[in-house]
Amino acid sequence: MTRDPRFDVLFEPVQIGPVTAKNRFYQVPHCCGMGFNWPQSHAKMREMKAEGGWAVVCTEECMIHPSSDYSPEPQARLWDDHDVKCLGLMVDAVHRHGALAGVQLAHNGVGTQNLFTRMTPIGPSDQSSVIGTPGQTRGMSKRDIQEFRRWHRNAALRAKQADADIIYVYAGHDSTLLMHFLSRRRNFRSDEYGGCLENRARLLREVLEETKDVVGDRCAVAIRLAVDELQGSEGISCEGEGREIVELLAELPDLWDVNLSDWENDSVSSRFGEEGWQERYVAFVKQITSKPVVGVGRFTSPDTMVSQIRRGVLDMIGAARPSIADPFLPEKIEQGRLDEIRECIGCNICVSGQHTFTPMRCTQNPSVGEEWRRGWHPERIAPKGSDATVLVIGAGPAGLEATRALGQRGYAVTLAEAGGKPGGRVTQESRLPGLSAWARARDWRVGRIQEMANVEVFLDSHLSTEDVLEYGFGHVVVATGARWRADGVGVSNWQPIRGSDQAHVLTPEHIYAGATIADPVLVFDDDNFYLGALVAEKLQGEGHAVTLVTTVSKVSSWTENTLEQHRIQARVLELGIEVATAHTIVQIHADQVDCACVYTNRPRTLPAGSVVMVTSRRPDNQLYLALMENPEKLTSAGIRSVSAIGDCSNPSTIATAIYEGHRVARELDAAPVDPDMPFRREQIALASSV
Ligand code: ADP
Ligand code: SF4
Repeated sequence: MTRDPRFDVLFEPVQIGPVTAKNRFYQVPHCCGMGFNWPQSHAKMREMKAEGGWAVVCTEECMIHPSSDYSPEPQARLWDDHDVKCLGLMVDAVHRHGALAGVQLAHNGVGTQNLFTRMTPIGPSDQSSVIGTPGQTRGMSKRDIQEFRRWHRNAALRAKQADADIIYVYAGHDSTLLMHFLSRRRNFRSDEYGGCLENRARLLREVLEETKDVVGDRCAVAIRLAVDELQGSEGISCEGEGREIVELLAELPDLWDVNLSDWENDSVSSRFGEEGWQERYVAFVKQITSKPVVGVGRFTSPDTMVSQIRRGVLDMIGAARPSIADPFLPEKIEQGRLDEIRECIGCNICVSGQHTFTPMRCTQNPSVGEEWRRGWHPERIAPKGSDATVLVIGAGPAGLEATRALGQRGYAVTLAEAGGKPGGRVTQESRLPGLSAWARARDWRVGRIQEMANVEVFLDSHLSTEDVLEYGFGHVVVATGARWRADGVGVSNWQPIRGSDQAHVLTPEHIYAGATIADPVLVFDDDNFYLGALVAEKLQGEGHAVTLVTTVSKVSSWTENTLEQHRIQARVLELGIEVATAHTIVQIHADQVDCACVYTNRPRTLPAGSVVMVTSRRPDNQLYLALMENPEKLTSAGIRSVSAIGDCSNPSTIATAIYEGHRVARELDAAPVDPDMPFRREQIALASSV
């Protein structure tokens, strides 16, 4: 296949100061939960993007000095020459595929806690930490400012020593010192670094000039600037100081990388922002500077990308999440393989890796984080290890991914699904308000499976144990999913809740099936991820009177890890849903529910004509257990292995289900994986003197 000429413009080279990007695809800096802890994993993950055609591949925040220690979150570091070697791994990996390597130098100022280094956190003024930990930051003296500039110059030189091509001066989020100097909320100085905007931008200008002085002969110097904080006149805004900063520094950097602050606005989930939603804020920048401009917007559609370029919004298509979900996105556009693009669904599970201090994972791309330690390539997979046939039971995300990847390996695969549609929970959940993009997790897999002559799919085919034994496939993969419990058992209640066996006590599956619901509705959320609040939102939107009872103090508390909690709570309140946080259910009656405060046990009674339980799920594993009960029968049926994957093994995220589907496909007929150590570890070398 060849490229559609409409997309030619995306493959034009772009001059960035002294370096040239081979096309307009630009992987902007993004966190990955690897940083200094796992440099080889980091290098390999970034290499995949270079191999997949991105012209520029950047690091995440790269700390310039121990006074900016982001522990326990793993970020890149350039504190000393040892760190140059670690960064060099990534730069060399990116260069192997003709891409440019960018390094986002960062100091987190008021955003650091320095938990590891125990150095005094510093910022423009004496103030509370942005992170909200006990302890404040010390306002920087003139000497501190001199030191900061020296650290930045040294880090830039180290980045150059590591052979990086693009070196960032970073004021892109409220977590960074240079942004803190710009901000009237953070900078209360009365000297030449505070007061008017020109003064607040002085340090940014100095650092830009000095970075150009020390590395500008060979490296491009980029600025990452948040041109809007979505705080109106209280913050930096594209109609106010954001624009003025761009005007002040217009021609100084070699490239403008412009975005929104803070991270939840920059990486807004698909539930709260559409593709290209930053355009209205960043579009002005190109009218002010002649330097290339890059911006993000969860771009996955080549038509949207071309439109951004043609209409003069951006010069380069920036991407973090689309490059995680599909490192080969540029190559697929170049080769005219548009149907194969694995589009980001905007779920922000990738972000959660950073917040949980672990290598990131991705719902759409199960190979992320496994490139080095398990040797998983996002596009390639070993050919089949035998001529055995495979039966996959259940076409939810786990079964679909297992089928797709086994089919890619060349196995003859049969997929049987009880329902009339593929997708399992993805199909159900993507019909909830704001989650339509999640259907991409199903559609991409169904699309690939349909192209495979070696895969057969049977819908409306509920299989029994006898069916499976009778068919006699070589391998059986059970992916039959899980169902929400109506009895309220979950984190807070270990025993069924009294009265939960009544007909008006429902589960999300009842809601998906359009069950009759009597008002008022009480949704009990002890899962505390997205579903409880989303069911409440759906029902309130359909005209019901809804009360949301949560066992924790914030609605959908775990969604802090996907940057959505604030927006979810705001939406629930704006919709007029009654909220009772930090309460559990004690007993359910015909028309009311006895609740109790989780702190004081103080009782509270709420009216409820129906109750929807979002607490925990029961694996639908009867088929798997029945098959495993009788190994002789399996042998005589010619079945060599039976595996349970996804929710029928351990109900979890869609990302986990897809990952397990992928893993079972990789491991079939492969050399056995050591269950005690299933992947390579990155060992920290001990100094020779020890
Ligand atoms: P997962 O997230 O693990 O993929 P899902 O619940 O999303 O789990 O999907 C499981 C799928 O398995 C559902 O579409 C369900 O209809 C199907 N299924 C369950 N039991 C059987 C069975 N015995 N035969 C065929 N399909 C089944
Ligand atoms: Fe996109 Fe979700 Fe993957 Fe992140 S985890 S890249 S948001 S699909």
